[in-house]
Amino acid sequence: MIKDRFDRTHNYLRISLTDNCNLRCFYCMPEEEYDFTPTSRLTQPDEIVTLAKIFVDEGVTKIRLTGGEPLVRKDAAKIILSLSQLPVELTLTTNATRLHDFIDVLKQANIQSVNISLDTLQPEKFLLITRRDLFHLVRSNIELLLHHGFKVKINCVVMKGFNDNDINDFIEWTMHNPVEVRFIEFMPFSGNRWTNNKVVSLHEILSIINQQYSFLPLQNDITDTSKHFMIPGHAGSFAVISTMSSPFCAGCNRMRLTADGKMKNCLFSKTETDLLTALRNDEDVVKLIHENIMMKEKELGGQFTVDEVDANEIDNRSMITIGG
Ligand code: SAM
Ligand code: SF4
Repeated sequence: MIKDRFDRTHNYLRISLTDNCNLRCFYCMPEEEYDFTPTSRLTQPDEIVTLAKIFVDEGVTKIRLTGGEPLVRKDAAKIILSLSQLPVELTLTTNATRLHDFIDVLKQANIQSVNISLDTLQPEKFLLITRRDLFHLVRSNIELLLHHGFKVKINCVVMKGFNDNDINDFIEWTMHNPVEVRFIEFMPFSGNRWTNNKVVSLHEILSIINQQYSFLPLQNDITDTSKHFMIPGHAGSFAVISTMSSPFCAGCNRMRLTADGKMKNCLFSKTETDLLTALRNDEDVVKLIHENIMMKEKELGGQFTVDEVDANEIDNRSMITIGG
């Protein structure tokens, strides 16, 4: 078992397959020119599987693939199918632009649930956020997934004055569509021009929804990052990921492996452990994993608190190189 100093058991690994992406979401990409890591310098498929197996032997029961955009990696299908042989719940976070080519692979890999990023239901706003005119492709791929019986969760990063007026459009969408829309509080990462006044808090999101809808809280699991709600009569539901106003670190069970093979024990951790180099040098990777997790801070990587966030003081990667 992978336990930290606060007795939290870590059984959920998020693996980033690449820092490359075919969208340019401004809240995720660093504002300066960014060179994607060439595939030859990324963790190779056999190395991903070897590292994943080591984590599984240490108690990991769930693996999420992420990126950048995981499905732009040319060997994504091979990696997904190899990982599906492990005794874990395998899942994926994607921008959905390539999903139409992966339906069979996802089915073969027994993936049941997919998280998809979509921050607006307006095509023009989608273009502003992502700098790519692919709204209709994303929407049709969401329909495709639903048609094929996958469980779909929508990740929507809410930014004040930008898409907070889309919140109730998403809620209306859940009336006839069995999707769970997860509103995510905007988080600070290297180069993403985060400021406190752009965050729409859990409290504010619920008040906006409450202007038009009555909702009921659902039961949350201790390891849940989101607070879940249902609206009577709606086919779908919604949730809020309140990292900034009401963090959920007490029950955290997550570890991350970046596309260049570094282990991060928290989305906001300063420290990283180079597992890939250790694997290539035949060093003791298990020992490094446990050492890394013992460095895990109690909350928010030890870098800020709910009451005080100085984005310039946060020492971290950009979100696109972590994977969310
Ligand atoms: N490309 C995939 C996608 O967009 O779903 C996977 C990678 S993306 C980095 C993973 C998640 O991080 C997405 O849901 C995205 O909305 C979220 N994200 C990126 N930057 C964020 C930020 N600054 N604050 C909150 N969530 C963010
Ligand atoms: Fe790409 Fe996802 Fe980041 Fe958007 S949020 S730039 S789709 S990695």
